[in-house]
Amino acid sequence: MHWSGWGDPAKARELPEQVRTLLRDLLGVREPAVPAATMESVRLAPVALPERVLAALAGIVGEAHVRTDHEARVRHTRGKSTPDLLRMRAGDGSDAPDAVVLPGSHDEVAALLRVCADERVAVVPFGGGTSVVGGLVASRAGLDGVVALDLQRLDRLVSLDTESMTATLEPGLRAPDAERLLGEHGLTLGHFPQSYEYATLGGFAAARSSGQASAGYGRFDDLVVALTVATPEGTLELGRAPRSGAGPDLRQLVLGSEGAFGVITSLRLRVRRAPAERVYEGWRFGSFQEGSAALRALAQDGPLPTVLRLSDETETMIGLARPDAIGGGDTGCLVIAGHEGASVAGRREQAAAVLERLGGVPLGPEPGTAWEHGRFSAPYLRDSLLAAGATVETLETAGFWSNLPRLYDAVRLALLGALGSPLVMCHISHVYETGASLYFTVVTAQDGDPVEQWARAKEAVNAAIVEAGGTISHHHGVGRDHRQAYAAEVGPLGVEILRAVKARLDPAGILNPGVLVP
Ligand SMILES: Cc1cc2nc3c(=O)[nH]c(=O)nc-3n(C[C@H](O)[C@H](O)[C@H](O)COP(=O)(O)OP(=O)(O)OC[C@H]3O[C@@H](n4cnc5c(N)ncnc54)[C@H](O)[C@@H]3O)c2cc1C
Repeated sequence: MHWSGWGDPAKARELPEQVRTLLRDLLGVREPAVPAATMESVRLAPVALPERVLAALAGIVGEAHVRTDHEARVRHTRGKSTPDLLRMRAGDGSDAPDAVVLPGSHDEVAALLRVCADERVAVVPFGGGTSVVGGLVASRAGLDGVVALDLQRLDRLVSLDTESMTATLEPGLRAPDAERLLGEHGLTLGHFPQSYEYATLGGFAAARSSGQASAGYGRFDDLVVALTVATPEGTLELGRAPRSGAGPDLRQLVLGSEGAFGVITSLRLRVRRAPAERVYEGWRFGSFQEGSAALRALAQDGPLPTVLRLSDETETMIGLARPDAIGGGDTGCLVIAGHEGASVAGRREQAAAVLERLGGVPLGPEPGTAWEHGRFSAPYLRDSLLAAGATVETLETAGFWSNLPRLYDAVRLALLGALGSPLVMCHISHVYETGASLYFTVVTAQDGDPVEQWARAKEAVNAAIVEAGGTISHHHGVGRDHRQAYAAEVGPLGVEILRAVKARLDPAGILNPGVLVP
């Protein structure tokens, strides 16, 4: 993973000339005057942890698995939001952990948490490091240091139960490795977020991730049937049946807890047979409103495709749904409908009939294939845009169908008000019978302080989402960036409940302090 950008540096993408022209002429983008920092030039504070504490950590995991070197600390600084990348490009390593610790088992995690609680050291569980909501930055207030708890050594497929169609896997497994291990048995999780190449199973559960095929396979939290969690106060083993009537479901307290309540050390997940057939195709609708009505019909009356997404007019015109065709200048609104399974012909025909009845024009497989090929490449484009002097960032929300137009307008207006004349694009890519998510991509010219510029815009959007009745996140999570809006969403009593849970599981307040809990 590139330390100040996204993914494999070998896959970096040049901006097409027409995009450069668009940036310059439409948005007034100019190249930044200062070049991006090198890894060596990133400024870090000295390691704050005393030798005694480092020795105690090494006593649990072995010396080789406690790292305090410059590179390890830089690579575990923050996540991959645009402000995170802008700060790293500016050489700002002020949120770096003092040490990176790599446990190899649940027992080692539990022992590390006890030492850190005794020594008042903050612990940041670190999966793939792809958080986009500030979920990897711990507050140091009242604590003597910060360690990043990198879970990459917990990377096994522990067991398979093909009768129940579940697999027990460790949290540090990256998604492609999990798919490879399951693929050897003809199985899949079906979880393909855009961060698929780097994100881990533990991170998916801790941040309630949702993948591009969520319509067919469900969100990641739908896949979790059981989990093991290490806390400073002991271990939680949750989930012993597919569904249970035994009181509130404590698994739900861990899903989305972003390392603030404990460290997930094992996950039992629902698996599916790997599909024999996959077909993705494009449809054109006259407007976002018409396209939304068609998606709603499929979500409510079926048949629901495995992948279902609708780009608004601007996203369709720019071609962002198909990054290989960026700058394409298409009109209308593009829908991608994908069908996966043992045999898809029947469902595909029925879905096509619904789309056609509601005004869709079939575009054939070409847009679907282009989307499939480009589905993980947009984040690489972000690096090129940042280097060119544009800020590009994404944000998301969800709401009920009846409220979706209001939410869409509110977010757009907030962005236009805060940024002048940015390019604002939107798509729907997760649908439910009762509503859907809205996912926005914003491009604007960087001003003298792009981090502050985006912080202002984000504050305006958060307020607009709360005011318009949407949720502050459909799948990115709360982290540090959404804490205030989350507090508004759950109300004062809800906040007290979260604090009480935190106080019981983590009385010393070492687990990801400053994240999630308002
Ligand atoms: C380019 C890009 C595209 C993205 N696309 C999507 C998308 O399509 N869908 C989506 O849902 N998200 C997406 N995300 C957001 C991100 O990938 C998800 O939030 C993902 O779930 C994070 O996984 P991770 O392993 O990287 O976790 P990290 O970023 O390492 O951690 C996320 C949070 O979970 C905590 N955590 C991590 N592991 C554990 C554990 N084992 N136990 C307890 N807490 C833990 C961390 O402390 C942190 O608070 C995207 C991010 C980027 C940068």
